[in-house]
Amino acid sequence: MMQQTLVIFKPSAIERGLVGRVLARFEAKGLIIAGMKMMQLSPEILREHYAHLLNLPFYPSIEASMTASPVIVLCLRGVDAIQVVRSMTGATNGRKAAPGTIRGDFSMSGQENIIHASSSPEDAEAEIKRFFSADEIFDYIPVTKGFLYATDEFDT
Ligand code: ADP
Repeated sequence: MMQQTLVIFKPSAIERGLVGRVLARFEAKGLIIAGMKMMQLSPEILREHYAHLLNLPFYPSIEASMTASPVIVLCLRGVDAIQVVRSMTGATNGRKAAPGTIRGDFSMSGQENIIHASSSPEDAEAEIKRFFSADEIFDYIPVTKGFLYATDEFDT
């Protein structure tokens, strides 16, 4: 099924100059860039985004990490994009993430792990709305679609 998912290039990606290399992986895979912008996360939006972590003792450290520099938010579109991007992202802890994944290749940390990626269709929908307005998401059809997918795949 055609899906959209949210990726955040965290301050660890921005500060370490990894944005281009990670973005290149998504482009090379065939994911379509549907929206992209730089923004400074506020503690308020972060509390919404990481509501499931708010009560953990290390939440203040996560907040400091995610607000340490601007981030880049990215909306990617593709068939089964949510699962595809999560598997490209790898396990939360970069030391445990498999080689070949983004975290496995670029991170040594459980916190400084380069990107966020939506984990379910419900999360993806809420997260895209949280970080983008409707007119910042572009619903174009790439001219390469016939070389990315079979016709019946793209249209589902
Ligand atoms: P994921 O980002 O893989 O979906 P979570 O939603 O569980 O994982 O956690 C969100 C983010 O919080 C992680 O990407 C990481 O930056 C940070 N985090 C999670 N667990 C820890 C931990 N035990 N120690 C430090 N930071 C953590």
